[in-house]
Amino acid sequence: MTLRYIHPDEAIRLVRAAAQTAFPVPRTEIVRLQDALGRRLIKALSSPIDHPPFDKSAMDGFAYARKPGARAYRVVETVAAGEKGQSELDEGDVVRIMTGAPIPAGADAVQRIEWTESAGQDLDGCPLVRFTDEETLSNIIRRGENLEAGEPLLGPRLLLPQDIGILAAGGIAEVEVAAKPRLIVISTGDEICTQGEALGQASIYDSNGPQLRAQAEAFGCNSEYRGIVRDNEEELAEVFGKALDEADIVLVSGGVSMGDFDYVPPIMVKLGVKPVYHSLAMRPGKPSFFGMRGQTSVFGLPGNPVSTFVNFEVLVKPYIRAMTGMENAPEYLPVRLDRALVRTAGDRVEFLPATLHMDGTTLCATPLEYHGSSMITVLASASALLRMEIGQTRAEAGETINARFIRP
Ligand code: AMP
Ligand code: MG
Repeated sequence: MTLRYIHPDEAIRLVRAAAQTAFPVPRTEIVRLQDALGRRLIKALSSPIDHPPFDKSAMDGFAYARKPGARAYRVVETVAAGEKGQSELDEGDVVRIMTGAPIPAGADAVQRIEWTESAGQDLDGCPLVRFTDEETLSNIIRRGENLEAGEPLLGPRLLLPQDIGILAAGGIAEVEVAAKPRLIVISTGDEICTQGEALGQASIYDSNGPQLRAQAEAFGCNSEYRGIVRDNEEELAEVFGKALDEADIVLVSGGVSMGDFDYVPPIMVKLGVKPVYHSLAMRPGKPSFFGMRGQTSVFGLPGNPVSTFVNFEVLVKPYIRAMTGMENAPEYLPVRLDRALVRTAGDRVEFLPATLHMDGTTLCATPLEYHGSSMITVLASASALLRMEIGQTRAEAGETINARFIRP
């Protein structure tokens, strides 16, 4: 099999193109608003209503008609939020009004309650109020001021809590979202064992399987873990074959590099997967396989846990976005390095774990001590991955560097 070694940005373009070819129209389903958190809205929605739906008061106070000269006003009615007042204001009348209540006919401003004082009663026993300070604001939120019916309400996105609030304000009870991709996760390796088992003399626990599942779930997919498969061609072929028939995305960890028992790419190819790349100019995560069979994609991810994590972040996420009809999100923000980063080889794009902190109003990154891609525990302290480019061997303290945020 010919080996395609490519830049990770080129790999992102290739995975996106493969997803768009396989899913020119994303699969969708309708969900209830209360189930829409973390789902992907793929069609822009317009507002079915004016927002707000009526002229309403932004203050507790007195609704009045702005006219110069009036000193004391008659308080003819009190209107709470949720009530529709009866009064049409006559000259010299005001309506006591609560925040969120509809503005009575004839009023064009609300005097906030803090800037008023009682002025006793008139001869009919009607309470009087005097304004103590001049309101320059109307304190009225006009019907449709925020959004008129038919205006854009929400564009395509992964729905976050604030988006749920916006849909809810528009009265939307059901929403069409991308179907969740079905992801199957498989770990490989004779040395890998499951949590709960006793570690053998040369074994380690499977961290990639649970981690990849968790990454997939946290990114809006349905995932299934098919366990650990030994480095045995027949067993691998059987499990892969089944996964290829059932999944949208198959994630396999381990067995993609150049070792004697790294069977994953050749077996996938035998099963009909067309390889797209087989190696990335990226550290960690150089051995990395991607291919397609029909609408099913296969990512063969490196065994080392940090490499697997970074591969999912950098490559699997763009595939999932494209498959679900989403644009690629901006993934990096510049931060200031507070320590120099130095490396000997500039042959690959490199991702280095870092903590973040504020220095005054500047977001700064401190690279973490990191001794290689098997050291997963470094990710406990890392808030970001700093990206060094090909050809770059140094980044000085005080320089700006691109950071990819890995903790919300
Ligand atoms: P491989 O790509 O199979 O050569 O594995 C590379 C390294 O990653 C080896 O040290 C493996 O033991 C380790 N590794 C492979 N799979 C896993 C896994 N599921 N969990 C943790 N480490 C793994
Ligand atoms: Mg292995």
